[in-house]
Amino acid sequence: MFKNLFFILSFVFALTACKQPESKFGLVIHGGAGVIKKENMTPEMEKEFETKLTEALAKGYSILESGGSSRDAVEQTINIMENSPLFNAGKGAVFTHDGYNELDAAVMDGENLEAGAVAGVRNVKNPISLARKIMENSVHVMLSGNGALEFAREQGLEIVDSSYFFTERRWKSLQKALKNKKFGTVGCVALDKEGNLFAGTSTGGMTNKQYGRIGDSPIIGAGTYANNKTCAISATGHGEFFIRYTVAHEISALMEFRNYSLNDAANLVINETLKNVGGDGGVIGIDHLGNVTMTFNTPGMFRGFATSDGKRKVHIYKEDK
Ligand code: ASP
Repeated sequence: MFKNLFFILSFVFALTACKQPESKFGLVIHGGAGVIKKENMTPEMEKEFETKLTEALAKGYSILESGGSSRDAVEQTINIMENSPLFNAGKGAVFTHDGYNELDAAVMDGENLEAGAVAGVRNVKNPISLARKIMENSVHVMLSGNGALEFAREQGLEIVDSSYFFTERRWKSLQKALKNKKFGTVGCVALDKEGNLFAGTSTGGMTNKQYGRIGDSPIIGAGTYANNKTCAISATGHGEFFIRYTVAHEISALMEFRNYSLNDAANLVINETLKNVGGDGGVIGIDHLGNVTMTFNTPGMFRGFATSDGKRKVHIYKEDK
């Protein structure tokens, strides 16, 4: 009798287990934050940005939907933005004071806290892919300059002439040494069906940067961070502030040690801590439950998300809800 009951109970348990809803997954992207105001944009430019953000989101989403890893989703989503002249990463990178393009990028895997980062490369077409190779195939976390280029060659990544990164728009920005700083870094964070979080950020840094300056994007814990216990974060903004306030890790730590929700943690760090000291910028984040945040203290941030509950959005300005 008890034996039968045991079998029935096991059967019911097995059935309910099979009926578990599909695991949640999703991704969030940014294409930079800054003084992005409607009055400075044309409808054509808005459309161009929205189309490219939508294309990047769709790529990452389809990888996650078909059971792919957050690692692949983040890399390939960022590749799309790196290959577009619209964003300050890859093809559209801003110019340094001396007229070069020096690119930084990082990735981090929330499952095992492995990370890869690259700083100051001038000839690597897709720095985010180099960051991933550094994580997977080197014993180091961060490589820079010529050594990073040599490693990229060894890994068979695409190397381009520095003229590849020339865009009229960025050249003019350098000439004007823009007062109205626009931060156009790109980033992506994703949660896959296995519950793994992954973060990636790729940038040309800040227009007019000098002396081999490196920003927050390739610094783990500042502009990029992921930990399956908490969240995955990618930042954009005035890097010096994000480094000093270890923004991405701070958000994770508030969640881990103070039980903050992702959104509350991001809000505190971006809209209070950073805002109070004049640190302009924002973050995107996703937590292990699939909650997302897109928090910034500037007039705009190119951004979007797509999650397995069917929600999907692409926005530019602060007022966009
Ligand atoms: N955070 C980047 C840096 O300081 C710039 C940006 O986000 O646009 O290098």
